[in-house]
Amino acid sequence: MSVHSIHHVTAVTAQIARNLEFYTNTLGLRLVKKSVNQDDVSAYHLFYADAAGSPGTDMTFFDWPSIGSNSPGPGTVSLTSFRIPGEALEWWEARLEAAGCFPETDQDELGRSRVLFSDPEGQSLELVDDSGLPGGSVHPWTAQVAAERAIRGINGVDLISARPQGTIRILSEILGYQYVEGSEGTFEAKDDTTYGCIRLHEPEARRVGRVGAGGVHHVAFRVKDDEELLAIKEQVEAMGIGTSGYVDRFYFHSLYFREPGGVLFELATDGPGFASDESQETLGEKLALPPFLEGRRAQIEAGLKPLTV
Ligand code: ZN
Repeated sequence: MSVHSIHHVTAVTAQIARNLEFYTNTLGLRLVKKSVNQDDVSAYHLFYADAAGSPGTDMTFFDWPSIGSNSPGPGTVSLTSFRIPGEALEWWEARLEAAGCFPETDQDELGRSRVLFSDPEGQSLELVDDSGLPGGSVHPWTAQVAAERAIRGINGVDLISARPQGTIRILSEILGYQYVEGSEGTFEAKDDTTYGCIRLHEPEARRVGRVGAGGVHHVAFRVKDDEELLAIKEQVEAMGIGTSGYVDRFYFHSLYFREPGGVLFELATDGPGFASDESQETLGEKLALPPFLEGRRAQIEAGLKPLTV
């Protein structure tokens, strides 16, 4: 079975300007696409990634100023983990301390050193020593952080599942994740070219979580192409789980479904990619709209607050 590491994580912010400042200046990611939510064009959708906007390096945010704050619980993502070179851990700890992020260091279940911290809205994040695992970005964005320290992409996410056995079935039978023996709920997907890590947590409380500012909206897994996307669609539907059907997101093609534990999963193709409507050099500089929204550009721009990079 092919393995499916993380393609992107999409989260929610109620403070887009502060969010932009933090993810670009403090974390050193590149704003590779400034667009709108395709289902709600009054909201920005910002995409932060490596210099090339490579799949697997991308954390994106919906800008929903009036949404309540995130409430963790069953059916939510409780943490997003980025990979960094181990030699950079102490440097990052000092940087995050200086930025007021209260970093804490420890080791994850696999014995890898990490720094835990939160973004300005309480989004739980982690930087973990990736020990040179396959699949790290080879295109670091170096405007704020030197290449040898830069974030190399997404390691994985922590999920709180309302139905762990159902979530495990999706992870193992569809997405190619294997349980790490001896761990409390760590699953890995790896081959010679890619790596993904999911940590599964059983809920402490029964109350279902609610996605809000400082939380994650959905997590997307990488698929090679449309053929693989459609094959997985069949598999998921054969398990009795409804899907969105094929969705053309212009920068990639997607399928959405809610996994049995309550988290919204997406499958997203590696291509066409973020450079399909602007050049690599100027990625993220102007408002990008997919062709089906281009005709409404003036109206859409008028509805957005100015955002300077
Ligand atoms: Zn997505």
